[in-house]
Amino acid sequence: MIDVESMRRGAARVVLTLGLACGVIAAGHASDTLSPAALQDAASAFDEAALRVNDSQPADLVRWSGPIFLAVADGDGMQAIAAEVEASVRSMAAIARVSVHRVSVNDSRRNFLVRPADTGGRVACRASVYSQYGRIAGAEVEVYVGGRGSLTRCINHEVMHAFGFRSHAHGALSILSYKQARQTQLSALDRVMLETLYDPRLQPGMRPAEATTAACTVIGEKLGLTARDATIQCGGRGTSGRQVALFGRRDRDQ
Ligand SMILES: [Zn+2]
Repeated sequence: MIDVESMRRGAARVVLTLGLACGVIAAGHASDTLSPAALQDAASAFDEAALRVNDSQPADLVRWSGPIFLAVADGDGMQAIAAEVEASVRSMAAIARVSVHRVSVNDSRRNFLVRPADTGGRVACRASVYSQYGRIAGAEVEVYVGGRGSLTRCINHEVMHAFGFRSHAHGALSILSYKQARQTQLSALDRVMLETLYDPRLQPGMRPAEATTAACTVIGEKLGLTARDATIQCGGRGTSGRQVALFGRRDRDQ
């Protein structure tokens, strides 16, 4: 369950919600390993998770470009999970090579807030991502402590959103797939996608058609392909029929 609350030219706020319904989809069983043969699937998962919002709208690349100032609010059950939340943010930040500073909720530098979900009729974990010109300016993760699903999955799923993956990769073995309800930790693919999003060859604000090729090349190298082979295999991305279908909706959507 996802909704985009508001998007404005130049600045955008994207809200992503992991509802309880998502937790009851049967989990698949797949090997959590990656090989060079998985390149196209891995690259597609990256495109679906990083170059879309709301599971459908094509979107420019966004990521953190400065330090994270993390605050964990008080509230029901938050004290018990604060350490796990901070560990999740720090582990992803380590992969992304973004620094993290823990601050108080009232600190003016705060740009990443984790707080209990507003349970007024809504039962879900969710993330909000604020970005401008491809740079994440702020993120907010709401944790629904009373949910039936795994809190660890909720935390890791929403924190992934907060690092710039504003959509999902439902067909992949990923914490961002609703079909992998038993996936509570980052998969091998998730770690590769995170490394790729923050690779210097990709840039904040990169357009989807350009980012898909660059990301595929980076992923190819991470899967063990030579730079030459990765370039060859990724050359058609951005112009293939699938990509046109995915990204060609830009004009109609905006
Ligand atoms: Zn989600």
